[in-house]
Amino acid sequence: MRRAVALASVLLSIFGLIHCKNKPSKPSTDKVKVVVTIPVLAAFARQVGGDRVQVTTLLSPGASPHTFEPTPSQARAAAQADLVVRIGLDADRWIHGLLPEGAPVITAAELEGIELITENQGEAHPHHSANPHIWLDPAYAKIICSAIAEELGRIDPRAQAVYEKERDRYLTELDSLHIRIEAAVAEFGSKKYVSLHPAWIYFALRYSLERVAVIVSSPGKEPTPRHLQEVIESIKKTGARAVFAEPQLSPKAAQVIAKEAGVEVLFLDPLGKQNESYIKLMDRNLAVLSEAMGGR
Ligand SMILES: [Zn+2]
Repeated sequence: MRRAVALASVLLSIFGLIHCKNKPSKPSTDKVKVVVTIPVLAAFARQVGGDRVQVTTLLSPGASPHTFEPTPSQARAAAQADLVVRIGLDADRWIHGLLPEGAPVITAAELEGIELITENQGEAHPHHSANPHIWLDPAYAKIICSAIAEELGRIDPRAQAVYEKERDRYLTELDSLHIRIEAAVAEFGSKKYVSLHPAWIYFALRYSLERVAVIVSSPGKEPTPRHLQEVIESIKKTGARAVFAEPQLSPKAAQVIAKEAGVEVLFLDPLGKQNESYIKLMDRNLAVLSEAMGGR
């Protein structure tokens, strides 16, 4: 499969080169083609770019970015991008072979101001030391949006002021989201949680939540019976109130643990649905969190 995608992208880039040679420069009505790896990045690009951009998300709905394989049609979309926005690390490693030659690429994990967290051995995602789930911290979402606005202004300089204005408007909305989360978390009776995989670490750091255990270090892995037992013990010991599963991954292990420990399984969504706004996604997650952790 990988080979077919690689071949398709090589053929496409050759075709693209021939095609581009005789193409006149972009008419002013053309939209900037932004290709992103995961849905939240599409939400950011749409907020900042408005109707001047055409955004394509590569990750298929419901798929986990950790285990995803792009299709040939997704490879074709990537090859035509004017701008690619990706997270980096192992959140979207699969885009490597699909990156269009010459088009600018924003790698969020490499942006200035984003401090990557390296987890202990055995807890980190495989093949890489740093945890990639930076977008779940609204402060980091702001950094990513600013980078998108800056790059769009460079690609489409006539609309630079528009992108800056939309960025400023959206950053204010992200600030309000942050204040909302802070206020809700201040009311939590418990700040301890267990998550299916280490997706919420940046969010937890920003809002002082305490992760007491992780069920699998990376998606697609199966926890050992011994580890399941350890997670159950730590829930009982710490009084953590909930086990967070995710819509993109099987909740089976989480359900087994929650049942044994006498707590609830709740679904937090680190990715968002296709076309869902980031703020809506985070408010949805906050509602679930408040339900589990709220009250004394
Ligand atoms: Zn993840």
